[in-house]
Amino acid sequence: MNMRFSRKDNALYSIPQRFADERLPFCPICGSDDPHWLTAEHQKLFYKYYYFKCEKCGSVFSATADDVSGLSGTTASFYGKYKKYKGKDNRTVYIHVDQTGAGITDIEKISLQNRELALEDLLHIGETLRKK
Ligand SMILES: [Zn+2]
Repeated sequence: MNMRFSRKDNALYSIPQRFADERLPFCPICGSDDPHWLTAEHQKLFYKYYYFKCEKCGSVFSATADDVSGLSGTTASFYGKYKKYKGKDNRTVYIHVDQTGAGITDIEKISLQNRELALEDLLHIGETLRKK
C-alpha cells in the first residue's frame, strides 16, 4: 500500500495527529520519546483507518477512525456493534502494528508485527521493551 504520510503541525485540526501525539507519548517499538508521529488515512471497504508512523524508526501502526474518535465507544455506531460482536471492549482503542521499522532487529519487537493490541497493552509492552 502506498501511503502518503505527513505531519499535521496544527494538531488541533487533525484527529489522528492529536491522537498520536497525546495517546502515544513514545514509540512502542523503538522507545523514542519523540516519535514525531506522521499520519495518513486510508479507507478500506467499510472503515476509515488512521495510520501512525514513527519518524525515528519507521514503524507503522493503525487504528480505525471510529476507535480514535471514540465513535465506537457505544454500539450506536456500526463499528461499535462490530466490536461488541467480536468480543472486544467498546471503550478500548485497538492499535494494529502494521510494520516494524526496517532497522528493528529485536525478535520480540518484530513479533509484534501484524498484531492488534489494546492501546494500554501496547504501551505497557513498549515500556517493558524499553527497559531491556
Ligand atoms: Zn519508533
